[in-house]
Amino acid sequence: MSMTTTAQFPSATILGYPRIGRRREMKKAVEAFWGGTITAAQLEAAAAALRTTTRERLADLGLGRTDSAIPESFSFYDQVLDAAVTVGAVPTRFASLVGIDGRIDLAGYFTLARGEGDNLPLEMTKWFDSNYHYLVPEIGPETVFSLASDRIVREFNEAKAAGYLTRPVIVGPVTFLLLSKPSDEAPAGYQPLSRLDDLLPVYAALLDRLAAAGAEWVQLDEPGLVSESIDVPRVKTLEALAWSYAALGRLARRPAIFVAAPYGSLDDALPVLAATRVDAIGIDLVRGTLPEPTPGLVDKVLVAGVIDGHNIWRGDLAAALDRAVALKELSPTVSISTSTSLLHVPHDVAHESSLGAELTSWLAFADQKVGQVCTLARGLSAGAAAVEPELSAADAALTARSSAPGVRDDAVRARAAALLDSDFLRGDYATRLAAQEVALGLPLLPTTTIGSFPQTADIRRARARFLTGVLTEGAYRELMQAEIARVVDLQEEIGLDVLVHGEPERNDMVQYFAENLNGFAVTENGWVQSYGSRCTRPSILWGDVSRPKPITVEWSGYAQSLTAKPVKGMLTGPVTILAWSFVREDQPLGETARQVALALRDEISDLEAAGIGIVQVDEPALRELLPLKKKDHAHYLDWSVGSFRLATAGVADSTQIHTHLCYSEFGVVLEAIGNLDADVTSIEAARSRMDVVHDIEAGGFDHGIGPGVWDIHSPRVPGVTELTELLHIAVGAIPARQVWVNPDCGLKTRGYTETVESLQNMLEATRIVRERI
Ligand code: GLN
Ligand code: ZN
Repeated sequence: MSMTTTAQFPSATILGYPRIGRRREMKKAVEAFWGGTITAAQLEAAAAALRTTTRERLADLGLGRTDSAIPESFSFYDQVLDAAVTVGAVPTRFASLVGIDGRIDLAGYFTLARGEGDNLPLEMTKWFDSNYHYLVPEIGPETVFSLASDRIVREFNEAKAAGYLTRPVIVGPVTFLLLSKPSDEAPAGYQPLSRLDDLLPVYAALLDRLAAAGAEWVQLDEPGLVSESIDVPRVKTLEALAWSYAALGRLARRPAIFVAAPYGSLDDALPVLAATRVDAIGIDLVRGTLPEPTPGLVDKVLVAGVIDGHNIWRGDLAAALDRAVALKELSPTVSISTSTSLLHVPHDVAHESSLGAELTSWLAFADQKVGQVCTLARGLSAGAAAVEPELSAADAALTARSSAPGVRDDAVRARAAALLDSDFLRGDYATRLAAQEVALGLPLLPTTTIGSFPQTADIRRARARFLTGVLTEGAYRELMQAEIARVVDLQEEIGLDVLVHGEPERNDMVQYFAENLNGFAVTENGWVQSYGSRCTRPSILWGDVSRPKPITVEWSGYAQSLTAKPVKGMLTGPVTILAWSFVREDQPLGETARQVALALRDEISDLEAAGIGIVQVDEPALRELLPLKKKDHAHYLDWSVGSFRLATAGVADSTQIHTHLCYSEFGVVLEAIGNLDADVTSIEAARSRMDVVHDIEAGGFDHGIGPGVWDIHSPRVPGVTELTELLHIAVGAIPARQVWVNPDCGLKTRGYTETVESLQNMLEATRIVRERI
């Protein structure tokens, strides 16, 4: 070891903390900066204040002030963007944002995330198997790496000036390149990982600066190691890993290196990492499993990720302690940590006043988890007896939970247990198609939308006033019905073939169902960062799921009563409801999914009885929950696809089932989409100029398909020529009888001006294409 002594790793730590602020202060400050109401200096001041509060709180909760226990995990937008800006990886189209000193200012930083004029922002994609989205760096032969930002060093110094010795955190070099995509300039087949040798000196320079500033430990996040990259063979990843940490390990001056590998098992990356000179390795013992004894590991600090950073349960503390103790077999030095950054959970259970004492006692949000980590660290050093009161309190909560009313509902369980294979099967497609043609009488290239219409300020106000009791239920219903009538009229006027009611009554496509099903609770302040300044408030699925009464039937039925055209009922699918909620961990996800599916099955059957002939079950999260390791795919697809089929297979042949998926990267799930056996599937396609129709053609998909022709993510109105071209591409690749015409996604976030114009153009393009085929 090149350093004479390595500082001790703290006995308790976390991999990261929510950075949006307890009252979403950062969201508000960042958006105020975007809106021009505060200056960059004011935004910096707000961020510094948040970092200060965070450090103070973490210290109050028990993390060490001066032993590198507190991670510096703040970000204005995204940690991968931060890493890109730190190493100077700015795409050529944004070159003008870089100053002569090679730096990019705060406004430039946000431009990378949000785009400007014709310059599209960095692409955004899902961070491992979470609902957080990161920005994808673009790397090519032209990328010049340099230490272009010292923000990390400044934040460390800021903490130091306030009396803290914290631990800087940055995405590690291997993960950074694995998550990057080839830049526009890169030749075909280019691999960003080929630039590792040019990138490492920048990390080396950063580590040098941090050591000079007095940092004792640095955390390099390498979750890329637990997942399987599609583009990079595993051997290449392992080589890159060995090479990187050999290089960084031998630096003359550096902090001790802690490599964290959240979101799963390191598997074959562990022996590789153990053979390098890194000083500490973070092991996810929630998602991952206890590793085998591994040469070299005995010299490392093992940071036991035993507190789930990804979910909100208080959990089994004694079992978590046992897992950490088991890790001691592999190395004498074990510390306690969270399995992932706490970024995925809300700040504080104490902010919730409506969950009830019982449910609250089962929960641990970020602050409670920090407390748990500290408890376990004491237990690990002084023995379980030393923390006996905490362990038994957690145990008592767990026991109470398992027998609490609603957690197990015998009727729900009996129904799930009695399911037959036939409950998952519809009749053959040709028969269905014929029956639906008779029942619906739709033209060739039927036109429709994805469900929601613009959520105007009036709609939101009405909902808020109903919630706070200002509006009576009757008055609220009248307002919603008036809105539905308006939306139906508008669609008739535009000439759409399959209408929707517009979803004005829904705050959110998952929360709305959570509020109307047994087994869910909804938080008041449980915000979690989804991307940038965007936060979601996932519901908590805590008990067996059932449907006390019909949910959407009244609204869809009302819409149908206003028109002779078919109105499409609109539901959120079981997988998406699970993916965007905090789910129970006391039973397999597949079991929970079945319960949700059965509730939806009843809803669909009630819709059918109310005269709704088309029902759409949205599953935008089907791809999102796909496990990181290929060996786990089959099992996942089995239960996820199964739950969709269970929800939808109860209908008559003449009832048409639609599904909607937001994205267009099908690859691995294309076959699964076919297995959903929906009659019609709508997908996003406009942004990729219909690329996806070729996959569909190649996949032999023979059911109805609606490749989106209008990218609804911006207010831009697509012209008739453009829409006609896209439709031509679609009918060129797929038989016209299969093709549906629709936008990419729901119109909730759009305004009426662009909505009306775009839909009119869509109808005109359809008319033109219908004439030509
Ligand atoms: N039906 C939903 C809507 O239109 C679908 C949203 C989604 O796919 N995310 O809003
Ligand atoms: Zn969508």
